[in-house]
Amino acid sequence: MTNKIEELMRRLNRIVDLGHASAILEWDQETYIPDGAHESRAKQISTLRTIAHEEATSGGLGELLSDLSNNLAGAVVDDKRAEALVRVAIRDFEKATKLSTRLVADLATSEAMGKDAWRRARENDDYAAFAPHLEKLIELNIEKAEALGYTNRPYDALLDQFEEGLLTSTVESVFSDLRDELVPIVKLIADSARSHSAPSEDLIRHFFDPQKQWDLSLGVAQLMGYDFDRGRLDKSAHPFSTAFSIHDVRITSRIESDFFSPAFYGTLHEVGHALYEQGIDPSYERTPLADGTSLGIHESQSRLWENLVGRSESFVKFYFDTIQSAFPSALGDATARDFYRAVNTVRPSLIRVEADEVTYNLHIMIRFELECDLISGKLSVADLPEAWNALYKSYLGVTPDCNANGVLQDIHWSMGAFGYFPTYTLGNILSCQFYDQADADLGGIGPMVLAGEFAPLLSWLREHIHQHGRSQTASQITEDITGGSISAKNWLAYIRRKYGALYNCDLS
Ligand code: ZN
Repeated sequence: MTNKIEELMRRLNRIVDLGHASAILEWDQETYIPDGAHESRAKQISTLRTIAHEEATSGGLGELLSDLSNNLAGAVVDDKRAEALVRVAIRDFEKATKLSTRLVADLATSEAMGKDAWRRARENDDYAAFAPHLEKLIELNIEKAEALGYTNRPYDALLDQFEEGLLTSTVESVFSDLRDELVPIVKLIADSARSHSAPSEDLIRHFFDPQKQWDLSLGVAQLMGYDFDRGRLDKSAHPFSTAFSIHDVRITSRIESDFFSPAFYGTLHEVGHALYEQGIDPSYERTPLADGTSLGIHESQSRLWENLVGRSESFVKFYFDTIQSAFPSALGDATARDFYRAVNTVRPSLIRVEADEVTYNLHIMIRFELECDLISGKLSVADLPEAWNALYKSYLGVTPDCNANGVLQDIHWSMGAFGYFPTYTLGNILSCQFYDQADADLGGIGPMVLAGEFAPLLSWLREHIHQHGRSQTASQITEDITGGSISAKNWLAYIRRKYGALYNCDLS
């Protein structure tokens, strides 16, 4: 059996290496590639992914996995790692073999071309130029869903890629309960926001020197424990984190010269993702276990550092002097309390990535509804901008002035990522469940953050979440930490507590 595990490792190492090589090409495509190279890059990525797919679906790998799973089923396995590796490899193999090489190549090319078309369409506010790419990507995703198979609805198959076992009907019911609680909260805050003493963003909507924003982003990443010997920070249109190894986890950020939040809080967000991947057990290197276990768990880490730590009063009190001394003219005589209120202003807005914590999930619900309708065929690509605007009006009371600030704002659909958005809300919800448990275990995180001590929280996350990689499923991790399953209770309590105080209104 040991020889067979070694043989499995050898095969998986190659597949993982090919995937990481392709990820480097994609990272480069988002950061440094010259404009004229997108078409050739699309072909290179497609070639690498096709080779990886051939390896991932080879008959030899299938036989090996079937032998190993029979052996594991028949014996008491003392090697938990081998058991996890075989379980995850079987899941990946079963998924991969359902997709034809032709479909994988078509998806890879259409995604790379789609991203380039989206970037130009957003710049020129030209939805019509992006529409044919979107149509093709939806068509391919429907084909993919049919090939993968699903429980009730094709969208189930797309969700399952990012969150194992998650059903469309479950998301619908979680979202509908959350919406029922959230809409009245947003309304109460909006009423209180009319008072002239309510928090306002004015303080952080000034000129902030771009180079100093960059330096501050580097500084805060290091402060949180991001290891620059095993990563780097670059600029991209849409911030993201990506890993080519446990020892090479990169992040990107973007700067707006007249708005403080995108670079600083965007960096904190990506740092949260990167800390997860840098914290995976190094012995999982070059295996499928060296990855986040699900996108919901991944997003719980980014939101925890961005919001529960970064937007907390303790953090702002601790770090405001540093921020103020970087921007003396913009922040002048402001206090930490003024800054805390400014970075926690609730305002229904058009752009998801700049949304406050309270309204953020409404942006996700809009995308989820539209995706379901696009995949089921109820909504056409031609009618999408109108449907988008109507939902923004209905959920957030705002209407985009142009498609660039509306339907064209996110990269996800251009890279064929359908079923991805709901995991953002799952991440928000989970971040509070995990934070509350860590807070209890550590005897209060607030005072540590106030003293600039972030290591105890990071160690707790490493122990309970990061180190496991994919060796534990999202539901196992959630159950081990909380003793139960995902629930919006903690998140709603946090929102009511924090924003009730900020807006001086009773949200209970
Ligand atoms: Zn994220």
